[in-house]
Amino acid sequence: MENFDFFNPVKILFGKGKIAELGNHIPKDAKILMTYGGGSIKKNGVYDQVKTALEAYHVTEFGGIEPNPHFETLMKAVEIVRSEKIDFLLAVGGGSVLDGTKFIAAATYYEGEDEWDILAKHAEISKAMDLGAVLTLAATGSEMNSGGVVTKAATKEKMAFGNPLLFPKFSVLDPETTYSLPQRQITNGIVDAFVHVMEQYLTYPVNSPVQDRFAEGILLTLIEEGPKALASATPDYENRANLMWAATMALNGLIGMGVKSDWATHMIGHELTAFHGIDHAVTLAIVLPGLLNQLKEKRGEKLLQYAERVWNITEGSEKKRKNLAIEKTEAFFNQVGIATHLSEYNVGQDSIDVIVKRFEGRGYVGMLPDVEVKDVAEILEARL
Ligand code: NAP
Ligand code: FE
Repeated sequence: MENFDFFNPVKILFGKGKIAELGNHIPKDAKILMTYGGGSIKKNGVYDQVKTALEAYHVTEFGGIEPNPHFETLMKAVEIVRSEKIDFLLAVGGGSVLDGTKFIAAATYYEGEDEWDILAKHAEISKAMDLGAVLTLAATGSEMNSGGVVTKAATKEKMAFGNPLLFPKFSVLDPETTYSLPQRQITNGIVDAFVHVMEQYLTYPVNSPVQDRFAEGILLTLIEEGPKALASATPDYENRANLMWAATMALNGLIGMGVKSDWATHMIGHELTAFHGIDHAVTLAIVLPGLLNQLKEKRGEKLLQYAERVWNITEGSEKKRKNLAIEKTEAFFNQVGIATHLSEYNVGQDSIDVIVKRFEGRGYVGMLPDVEVKDVAEILEARL
């Protein structure tokens, strides 16, 4: 196992009715900016629950944070925070609202010339506002990590940022808030969480049986509980609770400690979203099978472990078992409703050429040396 420092200070308030406890976790004299998205929280009752819980507070609202949150929109919130002397941020929504709110938290105190440098130049974040979250979509893990992804609409750049100062102080996870999710977003959550695990698990063996078994447990949970959520006409509490916790555990740092994480699938996926507006999870479902095919030799040992422990594939040659594991992975994405080829989204060779250019000058695509910039074209061309 590799050396690591593990630190995760996020208090998780899990279960039905937990939104009512918000006031126990925010300083009584706080001036709050409540951030949210395009209005789903007003239709499903979450907005009312939050407002009731915060009756005693001074609350300003900032709605309209879009999926794949825009830098331009978030900077409007930063202006409000600065001018109204807001001192606590409460994000209410999915990963986009949470990520966007983390960016507001960092950008408000940024002293450099251009807040976009936090993303483009990894400019140092030396101070950030306190924030909390009410999660309504189980997918990203943003509720229990310190990272985020923001898009500059003007230039179609989608980039990640992170800093330990951006861990939420608390996150409320009430599975009932996910009852109003459309099928498409339930699917996105299952697949995003699945690929988060794969980015940290399907790399190289480093003798990490605890992390491996945790990772496999999360994958198996998603494979078992995901289709149940999609099939049932009325939401089942235990099913939604298990999916919610699986997504949080997939990216709260725990399974990534002491192992080799990659994130190349995410890096390539971000470009597909930036240029074509394809949902984040969908881009991952398109890219991952191509990436695994490319790495069948380099990551062979782990792929065989994955084949056996997750898909119960124990017979046949190594080559056969590896291929079948990749096929089963793609079939799972298809089963939960995602089309996994670029042509199904009208993305052709010309777009691949543009995306490949974005990677020029970078060393590796992700964090490991086994996916090189020259591989991006091949990975994507295999997915046409
Ligand atoms: P999202 O973009 O936050 O939300 C997708 C859609 O779902 C929105 O239209 C939203 O509507 C709707 N929605 C959310 N909760 C709902 C509910 N309970 N009922 C009905 N509709 C609901 O989706 P996401 O998948 O959670 O977040 C994706 C973003 O997170 C991407 O930008 C991705 O790159 C990023 N990401 C972050 C991390 C991380 O570690 N921080 C990891 C992976 C991905 P409203 O806008 O109306 O609320
Ligand atoms: Fe993701």
